[in-house]
Amino acid sequence: MIPYARQNISDLDIEAVIAVLKSDFLTQGPKVLEFEKAIANYSGAKFAVAVSNATSALHIACLAAGLTSQDTLWTSPISFVASANCGLYCGAKVKFCDIHPKTYNLDPEVLETKLREAAAASDLPKIVIPVHLAGQSCDMKKISELAKKYSLTIIEDASHAIGGSYRNKKIGNCEFSDMTVFSFHPVKIITTGEGGVITTNNPQLYEKLISLRSHGITRAQDKLERNDGPWYYEQQGMGFNYRLTDIQAALGLSQLTRLDTFVERRNELADMYGRLLNKLPLTLPEIDADCVSAFHLYIVCLDRSRTDMNHREIFEKLRAAEIGVNLHYIPIYRQPYYSRMGYRIQDFPIAEQYYSTAISLPMFFDLSANDQEYVAETLKTILSRN
Ligand SMILES: *Cc1c(COP(=O)(O)O)cnc(C)c1O
Repeated sequence: MIPYARQNISDLDIEAVIAVLKSDFLTQGPKVLEFEKAIANYSGAKFAVAVSNATSALHIACLAAGLTSQDTLWTSPISFVASANCGLYCGAKVKFCDIHPKTYNLDPEVLETKLREAAAASDLPKIVIPVHLAGQSCDMKKISELAKKYSLTIIEDASHAIGGSYRNKKIGNCEFSDMTVFSFHPVKIITTGEGGVITTNNPQLYEKLISLRSHGITRAQDKLERNDGPWYYEQQGMGFNYRLTDIQAALGLSQLTRLDTFVERRNELADMYGRLLNKLPLTLPEIDADCVSAFHLYIVCLDRSRTDMNHREIFEKLRAAEIGVNLHYIPIYRQPYYSRMGYRIQDFPIAEQYYSTAISLPMFFDLSANDQEYVAETLKTILSRN
């Protein structure tokens, strides 16, 4: 089976991990700090906080922003469940905003309309989480204007997008948001096995994130409320054990040196797919002029003006041909856990249309030209049987 995604681990990555295994620190130590500095430096944000995965990153980002059970969080329905679950972890209400028909990202026009209505009903969200689907940034300029107007906190879920750019700057610089979250799960652009990072330019948020990541405990002499002796530390708030290990950070640091190469290759693969697939009844990814996509995913949609072939059947045939296509994502409101809360499918016509046509084709650094041609040929054969 050609998978839809796969990590690339080099000998240098392996050596970096072994070196940590022989060192004094296995869990959070000097490598985590070094990794955070490297991520902040790469993305252009002032601070970076490394955590156990992007799910915990989203959770403590929401807590740092003060999300409580009195509040509401809005996000895109076309995302991994973690983008919405983080709101529920805090006891908040979660609402979804429909996607844009071309980018499949949260639609800023829909967002604007819904915010106007919410303001009139005194039901504004505290947090909005735009998700950079497949690695292409949302319209952050527009979203940040709305954030100013309605006093929203913006957390970018950039789990797909490290290495991508928006308006000539790296995603993660937080010019248009309060915090940005990256994921280092093995299917993503770079990996630490499990891992995540939050970037921010706000020193208060940074302090809160550091505390939330590790039990709400501080050992910093200048922050203690009292000092009982040399053993002393304080739990000053509630927190978790969401730490990354030095083993993982060493892998991340080593992977980070190849991030630009990874993203370049993914863009080449995307260009090649564009050439191989352009005559088929598919809508291919359209990258906005403001964006360089990190191309975590290569998503095609059946063009319903040109084919009425059954979506599920195409999927089954591709899988039968050993092509590990996938669907990113099942709209979150359709998940049984969410649908029991009363979300209505008819509120999200574009997400529904997307769900009935989208296919993620294999996209990863080591995807060979042969495999890519095989994917294109197979699709062509399947789609021409109309
Ligand atoms: C992968 C992913 C997450 C969760 O990342 P983990 O590191 O696996 O917790 C969250 N949001 C999106 C959009 C993702 O793709």
